[in-house]
Amino acid sequence: DAAEISLKDIDQLATSSFPLCMRHMLDKLRENHHLKHGGRMQFGLFLKGAGLKLEDALAFWRAEFSQKVGSERFDKEYAYSIRHNYGKEGKRTDYTPYSCQKIISATPGVGDHHGCPYRHFGEENLRAALNRMGVSGHALEEIMDKVKNRHYQLACTLTFEATHGVSCDSGINHPNQYFNESQKILR
Ligand code: SF4
Repeated sequence: DAAEISLKDIDQLATSSFPLCMRHMLDKLRENHHLKHGGRMQFGLFLKGAGLKLEDALAFWRAEFSQKVGSERFDKEYAYSIRHNYGKEGKRTDYTPYSCQKIISATPGVGDHHGCPYRHFGEENLRAALNRMGVSGHALEEIMDKVKNRHYQLACTLTFEATHGVSCDSGINHPNQYFNESQKILR
C-alpha cells in the first residue's frame, strides 16, 4: 500500500517526485486557485493514490478554491465531488487514479490543464517545462524525439531517468507508479 502523504509536503513532493502532468496541475491550481472538472478528477485521484487522506484533500482544495469562489461555495459545490472521489458519496465507488493511457487519450479544451504534457503541450511549452525540471541538452533532445514519434510514455520514462539518475526498466505507465518509484529511490 502507498504511504500517507501530508498536506504540508505536497509542494516539496511535487518537485521531487510528481510526473510532469501532475506538477503542471499543481502549478495551475496554485496560480488560478481553480481547476476545471477534468483536472480535479485527474489530479484529485492521483493525490488520493499517493496517500492523501480525505480530510487533507478537502483542506487542500478548500485552501485554493476559497480564494477564488469563497469557502461557502466550495463547501456547497465542490466538496461533494471530492468526497465522491473517496467513495464517501453517491454509489460509494472507490475511484481509482487514471492510468497514462487514459490521461493521454483525454481531450483537454481551452482552460483545461489535465491531460499528458508530452501529448498535449506545444513544443516550446514542453521544452520550457522540462528545463524547469532540470532536463536539458542531450537528454532533452532524446525526450523530444520520443514525443515526435508519439511515444509519450517513453518520453516520460526518459524524463524520470534524467531527473533521478537511474534507469527505469519497467517504463512509466501510471502517474502513481512514477511517484512510487521516485519515492522508493529518494526515501
Ligand atoms: Fe503523466 Fe503518464 Fe504523461 Fe507521464 S506519461 S506525464 S505520468 S500521463
